[in-house]
Amino acid sequence: MKDAFGRNINYLRISVTDLCNLRCKYCMPEKGICKVEHREVLSLEEIYEAAKIFVSLGVNKIRLTGGEPLTRKGIVNLVERLGKLDGIKDLAMTTNGILLKKYAKDLKSAGLNRVNISLDTLDEKKYSQITRGGRLGDVLEGIEAAKSVGLTPIKINVVLIGGFNVDEIEAFVNLTKTEAIDVRFIELMPVGEASKWAEENFISNEVILDEVSTLEKVERLDPSSPAVYYKLPGAKGRVGIINPISCKFCEYCNRVRLTSQGKLKLCLHSNEEIDLKDKLRQGEDIEKIIMAAIKQKPESHHLEDGQYITDSMYQIGG
Ligand code: SAM
Ligand code: SF4
Repeated sequence: MKDAFGRNINYLRISVTDLCNLRCKYCMPEKGICKVEHREVLSLEEIYEAAKIFVSLGVNKIRLTGGEPLTRKGIVNLVERLGKLDGIKDLAMTTNGILLKKYAKDLKSAGLNRVNISLDTLDEKKYSQITRGGRLGDVLEGIEAAKSVGLTPIKINVVLIGGFNVDEIEAFVNLTKTEAIDVRFIELMPVGEASKWAEENFISNEVILDEVSTLEKVERLDPSSPAVYYKLPGAKGRVGIINPISCKFCEYCNRVRLTSQGKLKLCLHSNEEIDLKDKLRQGEDIEKIIMAAIKQKPESHHLEDGQYITDSMYQIGG
């Protein structure tokens, strides 16, 4: 699918649920979220049907996210069905890793290629604090399980938080020395319900290169990736720096998002959504609706002008 600016849209990120088993301070309100009515959420069958249409239109890369995708009942079966779609080259998942130990083997057998795991600290107490109750040990066991079944290459997503994990930058970077994993630092985005907290705790990613001066920039292999990659000399893995606010990769953007309530989002940083759920249920020509929508994908975002989104990340899937 080509959009109005000639970009090839081949990547669909699907949020399979708003719900999560953690309450990260920058993402979810402490009390959790109001559960939406069951009929407002796409069924797994509807997600599959929508994905099938996207794939028939040229999408060859799908990422499942959330909320926490592994809390959605039937997720392994969905992976299995998506993996069998003719044309899929890359099927991945972004997860907090808590349930990965339980599901890694089944996910791999079902056809999942790889996982991105979110982990903001290597300290047990701090992990419990930032996630409001999560157990670091569960994530570490999840990472080991993912490695052992070959859900690789693994990427670890670290949200950089002022006064919280800057002192751990070096420890995270050192994880790439002996293992072929990518550690990617993401700047805190002031979005949704946790936007005030995020604004107060924002710190620029520039601090990473200040902290670890031995990092060397590596060649950009995928221009559509939001990360700029670096490496320690002789390291097996890479260090990615994602600066969603000041750096723009809009020119190379190849992605669209489908929320768990069936809304198509053409840009992460835009509040505009196109409903697919009702149209799917009413038996409308979704193919035509998607193709017309893709032509509306904005040329770029304008976060630098302070135009932040009102949705939270658990709703969009990051
Ligand atoms: N629950 C899964 C997880 O945490 O990996 C998937 C969904 S989560 C919304 C996807 C990613 O968004 C995570 O890596 C998380 O750290 C990131 N994220 C959430 N809120 C964010 C924010 N305000 N700024 C930057 N990244 C954020
Ligand atoms: Fe849940 Fe992921 Fe949001 Fe944390 S970042 S609350 S794990 S959805």
